[in-house]
Amino acid sequence: MNFNSVKKIIIIAVVLHSTFLFSQISTAADIHAANHFDYQHQENWQFLSGMHQSPINIDTKLASIMKDKGDITLYYSDFAKFENNNGHSIQVDDSGFAVLNGRNFELQQFHFHSPSEHTINGKDYPLEVHFVNKSQSGRIAVVSVFFKEGQHNKGFQDVLDNIGRKTTEDKPIHIDVNDMLPLNLTYYHYLGSLTTPPLIENVEWYVLANPQEISAQQLASFHKYYNGNNRKINPLGDRIVLLHRQ
Ligand SMILES: [Zn+2]
Repeated sequence: MNFNSVKKIIIIAVVLHSTFLFSQISTAADIHAANHFDYQHQENWQFLSGMHQSPINIDTKLASIMKDKGDITLYYSDFAKFENNNGHSIQVDDSGFAVLNGRNFELQQFHFHSPSEHTINGKDYPLEVHFVNKSQSGRIAVVSVFFKEGQHNKGFQDVLDNIGRKTTEDKPIHIDVNDMLPLNLTYYHYLGSLTTPPLIENVEWYVLANPQEISAQQLASFHKYYNGNNRKINPLGDRIVLLHRQ
């Protein structure tokens, strides 16, 4: 090897080494740029959303026992203010309150989905009611009850009988709400979203484990209005489902 050959090799080595260094520097710069929040251009900040949506399938074998005391108490009124066929469900505007894991919520409304939106171990139910509750600070918590086919349900019949009925403030609708709630309030809890637009996240879900019953005739009556107003299942992702027995 002559002197020129050695010089060439040295030059090649230097070029290769500096290319390697440059690639390392540019990779570091990219990472820095990706993590950098520019406070002068906050409109360009990326929102990570859509990862915690509802409904979900609840795999009961994967549920963790809740460490909180967790008890829930529901005091829903049998006298509803307004019932409305709103174009995507039958909705009843009701009052009353719920104590959920030591915190106070007020009932806003309840409405129905057929078939159920949540599934348990991959199985759906013919009907699911969502009791939508709100805390003083605006947090939303939904208490959900499944219905299976069986006995006639007095509360659900009250809902069916009042579809389209005009209501006045002095004459509220009587609905036997408690007939739609199981005596045992054991539930699955997870953090999800509304299941209709705007699909807002950070909604607390309390999916009651024990279904209530409705008759085949009642289900057929509801299907005259809605049959298939259920949003598809969303992936659980990094979320945990808790089980609270009470
Ligand atoms: Zn709903």
